[in-house]
Amino acid sequence: MPSDYGYESARRRFLKAGVVGTAGGILTRSTHADQKPSTGIRGYRRLGRTNLEISDISFGSSRLRSGETHLVHRALDLGINYFDSAASYTRGQSETVLGEALQGRRDKVVLVSKHVTHAEETADSMMQVLDASLKRLRTDYIDIFMNHAVNDIAVMKNPEWHEFVAAARRQGKIRFVGASGHAGRLIDCLDYALDEDHLDVILAAYNFGQDPKFYEGLTRSFDMVATQTDLPRVLSKAKQNDVGVVAMKTLMGARLNDMRPYERDGSTYAQAAFRWVLSNEHVDALIISMTSEAQIDEYVGASGARELAAGDLALLHRYAELNGSTYCRQVCSACDDACPYGVLIADVLRTRMYATDYRDVAFARDEYAQLSTDASACLSCSGQPCQGACPHGIAIHELCSPTHAMLA
Ligand code: SF4
Ligand code: SF4
Repeated sequence: MPSDYGYESARRRFLKAGVVGTAGGILTRSTHADQKPSTGIRGYRRLGRTNLEISDISFGSSRLRSGETHLVHRALDLGINYFDSAASYTRGQSETVLGEALQGRRDKVVLVSKHVTHAEETADSMMQVLDASLKRLRTDYIDIFMNHAVNDIAVMKNPEWHEFVAAARRQGKIRFVGASGHAGRLIDCLDYALDEDHLDVILAAYNFGQDPKFYEGLTRSFDMVATQTDLPRVLSKAKQNDVGVVAMKTLMGARLNDMRPYERDGSTYAQAAFRWVLSNEHVDALIISMTSEAQIDEYVGASGARELAAGDLALLHRYAELNGSTYCRQVCSACDDACPYGVLIADVLRTRMYATDYRDVAFARDEYAQLSTDASACLSCSGQPCQGACPHGIAIHELCSPTHAMLA
């Protein structure tokens, strides 16, 4: 079983490096391309009732592929101690690489895996998925196992899931239980599970574009109003129940290169977006896909923040101005019933984001192939039924139709 999850050693590295700053202070020693490397993680936070102390900026491995153990090692060296994965990521490569990279250091990290379950799935089937993950991860336990991409109350109520969780816990294969999601009915799922006290941790898509109060203020000059009002409430409810909260999709689409011309004084858009997320007292930490060492250095530069730094608001405003009308908030459900053909609009737009913003077409295709109803109907549809359905001004037909052509 784990000891200190790397906290003490990272703290010592931090002190040795002589990093300056206060607990609430903002350190913008960031890197991208031409900047100095970050000195490492400066903030560890208690993950709710799990009592795990995890790095506030943590490793998302959804795009981790064979031959990339160096990324995991770089993250470890910078003090990251929370590694999020899933059976489905990069068709198992992600867990395999993590397992290889964490050899000898397993007890220093918090390891997360997830599985997309179905309402009729049996406990035996779930156990098989978990066993396969354990094998790929080269470990005999996973710290937090999540019901992944939840979007259906029936999935949350499936008695087989609860039977599976109880058995896996009894057998020492998992320590804590979570749920993750980013789709339209996520809020309903989380409300139910929190009310039933079924969760230790939640992982939710959360960024400055999804907080109505903040986004309204930020964008009133160009008239866009966010309607997703319940996510901040659910995060607060989780915190009240001492459930750990981890945020994902924190970059609102991650069009980082668009923002380089506007970044000043070593502070980047990504860091501003992270500081916004971490300044929410109801969020414990965030995960972010890390695809290069320079990117890891840049991201970790925002660690330790609990408030925005000077210049952050201007960067967030600029980003919203450039991208607000093409970024799908995903947990907003305003377009849920707009399509008579049942196209999963938010999910389609999420996969589009992977291809066009993250520039990872292979990952986008994998995710697109898993959609139960893709956007094939859009090819022959006039686009009338969903026209105007998005309060954020997203031209659904214009984006969904080419997405199918690109990813199918
Ligand atoms: S397309 Fe618009 S309405 Fe639909 S989920 Fe995305 S942001 Fe919400
Ligand atoms: S374009 Fe047509 S098929 Fe596609 S989401 Fe809109 S209504 Fe549905």
